[in-house]
Amino acid sequence: SNEHLSDNCLFCKIIKGDIPSCKIIETDKSYSFLDINPLSEGHALVIPKYHAEFFHQVPDDILADMLPLAKKVALAIGLADGQYNLLQNNGRMAHQEVPHVHFHIIPKPNTEQGLI
Ligand code: 5GP
Ligand code: ZN
Repeated sequence: SNEHLSDNCLFCKIIKGDIPSCKIIETDKSYSFLDINPLSEGHALVIPKYHAEFFHQVPDDILADMLPLAKKVALAIGLADGQYNLLQNNGRMAHQEVPHVHFHIIPKPNTEQGLI
């Protein structure tokens, strides 16, 4: 249901399908998609289907759904033997740009490969 989504939030519009996104996987409580301006190939975002600006505002049952989804995304984007950052920013001073909670999963390819 859309009762916990906001009418004027970019990521809520993505959840509703009003704005297109490259979906990876979703559950009834969370949604994952590719970042439109990736820091590396496969840069993904995991968001709750609940409008909240900050991590500490997300209900426990939804948070408990998001982390296993983040784990599936990490595996789905081919990081099983790779390296990556799992990041989450809260507030402008912490570099949050979109005021709807999101975890970043940012692949970090092995740049040492090929170096002698
Ligand atoms: P923040 O700085 O808030 O932690 O990260 C916001 C992220 O959302 C950025 O990496 C940015 O590229 C991504 N982003 C912003 N607008 C859109 C959009 O319309 N679609 C998608 N897929 N990603 C977006
Ligand atoms: Zn929202």
